[in-house]
Amino acid sequence: MQIKLFSAIISILTGATLGWIFSIFENHLVVNGFDSAAKLIPTAAGAILLFFIYICYIYATQNREAEKNIEYQYTLLNTISKTAPVGICLIRDKSFIHVNDYFCDMIGYTREELIEKPTSIIYPTEQDFQFGLAVRQNQMRINGTGSIEAVIKCKNGTQKDVIINSTPLDKDDWSKGITFTLLDISKRKKAENELKQSYIELEKRKDAYKEAHRLEQLANVERSNFQDNMCHEIRTPLNGILGMLQILQLKISDKEDLEYIDYTMASCKRLANLLQEILEYSRLQEGRVCILHKPFCLPDIFEETRLLFELSLRQKGLDFHMDILEGIPDVLIGDHHKLQQILNNLVGNAVKFTNQGSIRIEAWPVSKNIYPEKCRILFSVSDTGIGIADDKLEYIFKAYSQADSSNTRSYDGAGLGLTIVKRLLDTIEGNIYIESKLGAGTEIIFCIEFKVPTPGIDY
Ligand code: ADP
Repeated sequence: MQIKLFSAIISILTGATLGWIFSIFENHLVVNGFDSAAKLIPTAAGAILLFFIYICYIYATQNREAEKNIEYQYTLLNTISKTAPVGICLIRDKSFIHVNDYFCDMIGYTREELIEKPTSIIYPTEQDFQFGLAVRQNQMRINGTGSIEAVIKCKNGTQKDVIINSTPLDKDDWSKGITFTLLDISKRKKAENELKQSYIELEKRKDAYKEAHRLEQLANVERSNFQDNMCHEIRTPLNGILGMLQILQLKISDKEDLEYIDYTMASCKRLANLLQEILEYSRLQEGRVCILHKPFCLPDIFEETRLLFELSLRQKGLDFHMDILEGIPDVLIGDHHKLQQILNNLVGNAVKFTNQGSIRIEAWPVSKNIYPEKCRILFSVSDTGIGIADDKLEYIFKAYSQADSSNTRSYDGAGLGLTIVKRLLDTIEGNIYIESKLGAGTEIIFCIEFKVPTPGIDY
């Protein structure tokens, strides 16, 4: 503005100067004298003329700039309309006035087929059109713009899901036209519907799975009950047979007959052990276990296991070593029954599968200093027995599985011992790890956390 004012003053001054020079020149030639009054008119005329030329120049420049601006705005809008990945149209009097290429491609009509046609042709029904119109108008009245999700009908009869945004060119006079942008959300809708469908499927499968799980649990309970009943039914006559055999053992003096009785008694004991294992497994499977929190001394537990296997160890000529490393408190609190069961099972296997050499049980503390009120203990049961092949190791903890499952195998057992050990450890949150080499021996390591008694508290 200041520049324009400055330019106007300059043009006036220049005009005036030119007029003044002209008047001097003219006076000198025509009148041959110097008259100051005669200079005023050409000076003023010069000033007015140049000012007028300046105004015309400014006006012309401004017009050119406005034109350029309009051209630029038009090119910009045109480019946006052509390249935007949305349908754009201008509606006036419920008819199409302008549509972009994307919109035509979207619904399959040509521009000529749409211009000046009623907008209702892109709606599946008149009712859809009226409903969309009412909602949009209401939104525009409140917010100035409208946005709705709608279904539109293409020329070929197919339908598309779109989001329609509408804005009037002049919010006070809708008759000037309303711009529409249509975003095709058919793919998103399809994906949403598929997702919904898969969710429903998933829910159905979940229900089916729950039902299958319920039925399985029911079947497990029935099977366990049946197992329990059968075991008890078999155990009663078995104990009768064992009793009778013990009486016969006292009465018979013939060496050969006594050998037969010993053999029969050994078979009966094996059968009784097997029944015991089945009962234990069935109890664990059903979760019928309670966890003890009682004080105990670890050396007593180790000694109990040694006593249990003393005879078999002697009969097989095996050495037995026990080692409790420093750092384990004299008294621990936990489920010593389960620990005893685990040790007995593992040492039982070690004795069964070792024909020469030795068996070792060890215990050493871990992380005692981190939590002084707790003590994690690693136990190891190792032997110099027949070992287990690598490919059998992963199945060894499955119920009824054995490394040698042939009919001609030379070791008895039902394949339940390690399963029971694993389940017992699960109930007291312990871990187990097995390392074995065929022909070189086996080491089974397990870890259990015990509490350390606090002085002054009775347990
Ligand atoms: P089983 O009553 O058959 O011993 P387990 O579950 O206790 O059942 O053991 C499963 C199988 O793992 C055994 O049949 C045996 O093949 C193998 N196994 C377990 N412990 C040992 C071991 N200490 N040495 C060699 N093999 C073992």
